[in-house]
Amino acid sequence: QNYQASNSRYDTMQYRRCGKSGILLPLLSLGLWHNFGHADDYTKARDIVRTAFDNGITHFDLANNYGPPYGAAEETFGRILKDDLKSYRDEMIISSKAGWDMWDGPYGNLGSRKYLIASCDQSLKRMGLDYVDIFYHHRPDPDTPLEETMGALDHLVRQGKALYVGISQYSAEDTAKASKILKELGTPCLIHQPRYNMFDRWVEGGLLETLNTEGIGAIAFSPLEQGILTNKYLNGMPNDSRAVKDARYLNENHITTEVLEKVQQLNAIAVDRGQSLAQMAIAWILRNPEITTVLVGVSKTVQLLDNIKSLENLKFTEEELARIETILK
Ligand code: NDP
Repeated sequence: QNYQASNSRYDTMQYRRCGKSGILLPLLSLGLWHNFGHADDYTKARDIVRTAFDNGITHFDLANNYGPPYGAAEETFGRILKDDLKSYRDEMIISSKAGWDMWDGPYGNLGSRKYLIASCDQSLKRMGLDYVDIFYHHRPDPDTPLEETMGALDHLVRQGKALYVGISQYSAEDTAKASKILKELGTPCLIHQPRYNMFDRWVEGGLLETLNTEGIGAIAFSPLEQGILTNKYLNGMPNDSRAVKDARYLNENHITTEVLEKVQQLNAIAVDRGQSLAQMAIAWILRNPEITTVLVGVSKTVQLLDNIKSLENLKFTEEELARIETILK
């Protein structure tokens, strides 16, 4: 069936400037880490991407090894592009990354120029694209000179294979160093992708400040702590939840009584605000002006629609913030 994007797709979404760049990103972006592998239902995956685009979500985040198996999410996304979104390519910001394990041998991991350039070529093939909008180094590599890794990102831009570059999981200190090198090369760092949510606030200890100084935008990953910061685990472990279905990165051991107690209390505040906990967790991240966009994953279209509604109440009173602080302490 031919897909026609909704005419109202830009009516309600809000956009923020990504650092000091020309790029605006939607307050919510869609990540394809989970739910786009070979075993996942294509129709469902396709529906999630269509729903995102129909609601003004212009940014889709991938990486070489999202799946399973590695590469599968890029293949699935390539298929969706071909089936539905080809004619909308210029309305989309598509990212990919290299930095974690991808193929066997010494050249399929970490931060060498050899790895990054070969991996970007592979990603483009899997997605059927000429270029990605953002190419990231996925995590710091202490053994490769930063000049080499940043030089590889700059090279990809000069080759026309990426329009902008980013870094992920870099400390504040390494971010400042990487930013300096990239500026000297003439390819300023567009964006940093850190993990950030109510239970993981490391970015508040210096990174956000560095990003502000350097003029780099930020996209927060795992904003819902992989689903823990929703009401889904409050009454047991649903069979269709990530912790039960796919225990690679999240399992029962993470969902302790102590964690659930906090979630319960946070949920009460969300209810007072007339929001779902997922919505409040997203709004809470966006209270920081340094955060450009929140990068959610969803296993169902309804979750995406729920998350988008967070835009209806992004403001917090001092009292609400204080209550949240007390719980998170
Ligand atoms: P989230 O914290 O948003 O967790 C997503 C999961 O939460 C969903 O799969 C779903 O779980 C559940 N969920 C989402 N919305 C709702 C809702 N409204 N109600 C109930 N449950 C909900 O993010 P992810 O951990 O998936 O990460 C998001 C993206 O960040 C990834 O896709 C990837 O692009 C990026 N990322 C980047 C990393 C990096 O190193 N740079 C590392 C990890 C992620 P369920 O399946 O149980 O329904």
